[in-house]
Amino acid sequence: MTDPLDRALGAYYGLALGDALGMPTQSMSREDVVRCYGTLTGFVPAHPDNPISGGMPAGSVTDDTDQAVIVGRLIAEARGRIDPLRLAHELLDWEQKMKDKDSFDLLGPSTKAALDAVARGVPPHETGRTGTTNGAAMRVTPVGIACAPEPMDAFLDRVVESCQVTHDTNIGIAGAAAVAAAVSTGVSGGTLDESVAAAVNAARAGARRGHWVAGADIATRVAWAWDLVRGLPEAEALDRIVTLVGTSVASQESVPASFAVLSVADGDPWRAALLAANLGGDSDTIGAIAGAVAGSVTGLAALPTEDVQTLRTVNSLELEVLTEELLALR
Ligand SMILES: [Mg+2]
Repeated sequence: MTDPLDRALGAYYGLALGDALGMPTQSMSREDVVRCYGTLTGFVPAHPDNPISGGMPAGSVTDDTDQAVIVGRLIAEARGRIDPLRLAHELLDWEQKMKDKDSFDLLGPSTKAALDAVARGVPPHETGRTGTTNGAAMRVTPVGIACAPEPMDAFLDRVVESCQVTHDTNIGIAGAAAVAAAVSTGVSGGTLDESVAAAVNAARAGARRGHWVAGADIATRVAWAWDLVRGLPEAEALDRIVTLVGTSVASQESVPASFAVLSVADGDPWRAALLAANLGGDSDTIGAIAGAVAGSVTGLAALPTEDVQTLRTVNSLELEVLTEELLALR
């Protein structure tokens, strides 16, 4: 039996693992992933032609990990709360630093539009009213580490704070609630099945928050995607995820796709992250979500030690102190 700190570290480093494995294949079709890389079996550098990650060395994390660390730092500093305006300014500062480095790994579509509005002086409770893509789900893992999954209303309040400025919609919040609840349940010692059940429940409750935007139901699609690929051989499962579940930045596709790769990998963090990397599409975010949920259930001890060391070295990533601070808030 692992301890809560090991499971919380498993979530944070699992997120980074899935992000870095998917970094080179993001925004590519599945056919192009196969043509360019064959089958990915570990960290590789991004092909120079990749419009987002071209030139990034093997093992590099992307905006998913960077933003999840920013959210974690804000929660730790404010002892559990997130000030949406502060988060907006931290994200804008982060993007400026990426531009200064000539990086093309910049803010996603909902986040970009919302933060441009913040910069124009629109109040933060207005800026997220159309954000439905997966930017809130990809950065929400620290909320799952810092907050117990029950009572649901209090848990969702914290999830909504992390979403509001950019993704204050039924869809954006449902996607983030699914991921946060799965991680939180894993950190509490839950099994993979219990984490997935918690994700479905939280997504259903989260969809009653925020501004309503038309779109498929995340809770229903997470449960459906989990069953759709259960027990299938990997190649067939990847094909179904690409063609039926979808791998785009839409929360309704990439959040269920993350639970589908968890299902195929039976919760193994490394296998789940690799499967995501081989999908293409928003592979880094699908891998980050799947890796975080898997790692929260198995603990850091189940992640390959050498690869975690690579993540630390390549990205100067040290999550131990922050994770302990977040866990102390539970
Ligand atoms: Mg990314």
